[in-house]
Amino acid sequence: MTEDLDARAKELDREYVFHSWSAQAGLDLPVIAGGSGATVWDHAGNRMLDFASQLVNVNIGHQHPAVVKAIHEQADLLVTVGPATANLTRGRAAERIIDKAPAGFAKVFFTNGGADANENAIRMARLHTGRDTVLSTYRSYHGNTGAAIVATGDWRRMPNQYARGHVHFFGPYLYRSEFWATTPEEESERALRHLERVIESEGPATIAAILLETVPGTAGILVPPPGYLDGVRALCDRFGIILILDEVMCGFGRTGRWFAFEGYDVVPDLITFAKGVNSGYVPVGGVIISDAISATFDDRVFPGGLTYSGHPLAAASIVGSIDAMQDEGIVEHARRIGTEVIGPGLQALAERHPLIGEVRGEGVFWAIELVSDRETREPVGADVIGRLKGALVSRGLVPFSADNRIHVVPPCVVTEDEAARALAIYDEGLTSVEDDLL
Ligand code: PLP
Repeated sequence: MTEDLDARAKELDREYVFHSWSAQAGLDLPVIAGGSGATVWDHAGNRMLDFASQLVNVNIGHQHPAVVKAIHEQADLLVTVGPATANLTRGRAAERIIDKAPAGFAKVFFTNGGADANENAIRMARLHTGRDTVLSTYRSYHGNTGAAIVATGDWRRMPNQYARGHVHFFGPYLYRSEFWATTPEEESERALRHLERVIESEGPATIAAILLETVPGTAGILVPPPGYLDGVRALCDRFGIILILDEVMCGFGRTGRWFAFEGYDVVPDLITFAKGVNSGYVPVGGVIISDAISATFDDRVFPGGLTYSGHPLAAASIVGSIDAMQDEGIVEHARRIGTEVIGPGLQALAERHPLIGEVRGEGVFWAIELVSDRETREPVGADVIGRLKGALVSRGLVPFSADNRIHVVPPCVVTEDEAARALAIYDEGLTSVEDDLL
């Protein structure tokens, strides 16, 4: 009977579901029927360690009882309400988020996810400044809607015909420096000089915003070098440009901090969020708006809105999730397990495995960059990543991969025992692929 449910799930999926970022023919996706914490299972009860946190969003872990209860209680009370109403749960969710934000942030605009959060942040920045151009990095992902997908810099970027006024630049990435830098300080300084040149060349008076992931995620978990983000802030201040930090993937605990930018000497003007704010238990995202930008719309209509903005089930899940993360010290746990277990464990793997070119990250946000040659840093091909993913899955781990990298991104609640098991699986998987390559 249980075997049949897994087969049926695959059959229905193949027959009727159109999937993201994929050619549809031949897709054979894993069945996930249940989960708890960092573990998921299919209908037959085969358990897997979820070291992808699905799409790097299940920060609080699967089926956290307090969040599920908050959703249940709200569902009993009121499952839907329009955006042009005052709703207590929505207000509480916004209050919780403002409470976590730095001083100087006034309000939260709720969206359905991360892409439309960036979309609306860009619109706010343009209306606030009266300028048009948005600068963002080549190595970035900001979502799959009009301006967000054009702002995206990775392979998913759509041509500019889908939206106007987007310019890309290179952010810091010391391992593959665009600036021939050999130290983090050099990388930071040269990346800032490059950005300054781009701003001057485009014309500072035309630039509305710089949109950056605080720690670029899908692009490779590119932890910014010292001085970079505060340097970008200084450029924004000098030229009257709005700084939008996209915290959709790196926010709400993933780096071991509530917001990733708390690790740097920088405060943005707009913060976009989604994923970890409620671990995707109900789709939601939003923009946290500074006092100054919020004041722009005190006497002026903000031309934007969504039917489900601040949906009560999403709001309830935000309140439940932020409270549980706070009460259970989940953000601190993510920081500690990253510093004491995952980071050192991955560094130890790098010493043993010639396939690993670099390990970088913090909290529960790590990348293993795989190379065929450590000297030339030649990235491994899709075949090697495919083989490694197969080896990890067959050993009971759900992996996350992008280009030539495996991202080690478990829920913030991952236990030491689970982290140790996962490290052993990565170790075995790498050994098996290296043995095959010899
Ligand atoms: N911004 C970043 C940094 C992301 O990683 C993502 C999704 O992965 C998005 C925006 C888009 O979010 P969503 O898929 O919820 O629209």
